[in-house]
Amino acid sequence: MNYTWSIETHVGLVRSNNQDAFAPDNDDSAAGPVVIAIADGMGGHVGGEVASRTAIAAAIAETDGEPVQRVERADQAVIEAMVADPSLQGMGTTLTLALLTAEGTARIAHVGDSRAYLLRDGELRQLTDDHSVVGELVRAGLLTPEEARHHPRRNLVTRSVGMGDVSVDLVEEDLLPGDRLLLCSDGLTDMVDDDDITRLLGEGGAPSEAAWDLIDAANAAGGRDNTTVAVVDVTP
Ligand code: CA
Repeated sequence: MNYTWSIETHVGLVRSNNQDAFAPDNDDSAAGPVVIAIADGMGGHVGGEVASRTAIAAAIAETDGEPVQRVERADQAVIEAMVADPSLQGMGTTLTLALLTAEGTARIAHVGDSRAYLLRDGELRQLTDDHSVVGELVRAGLLTPEEARHHPRRNLVTRSVGMGDVSVDLVEEDLLPGDRLLLCSDGLTDMVDDDDITRLLGEGGAPSEAAWDLIDAANAAGGRDNTTVAVVDVTP
């Protein structure tokens, strides 16, 4: 299988710094295996930026590695950075990492409330569970996804990279030509609902066009947070 991707980020309209990080640095196209990852850091002062960048660097440091191992290495690296510099104590990050194989399988390791989605035949499906207070309430049927998007505690995550021995979800999905994958930080999903994401992703432009359309929509809705979007097209 072949993968064509674009990853774009924007600071938004409210924040002064961008605490999201991602890999790879450049838009490109390749047969698998390809690793695509995004991280959304949290922690005061510079902590959030350090956490997300440290996690991404550790996750992609080695060519080989199963997705869950990569996230575990990131967890360890964030802890080591806090030990080395105690002023960073309390920082953490989400990490959503997709290993796209030559055979056409997406193997997605995930911690936190960044998301992976699959658009297939015009239908959008969220592949990851949000590790957040509101995500658990949605899964328990106590909140609708729309209520969760406006909930005052929507940004409270229940798992993050940097907690130590973090429990990592693994999702596996067999891909088909024509599929489009989306990885994104909550700067997108807090501002833009799934119907609008479906419409903007499905318009058929190149991955970079779709990525910017999504970021523009998040900013048009208020841009309260940093927004990072990876769009990956799957072709034979
Ligand atoms: Ca965020």
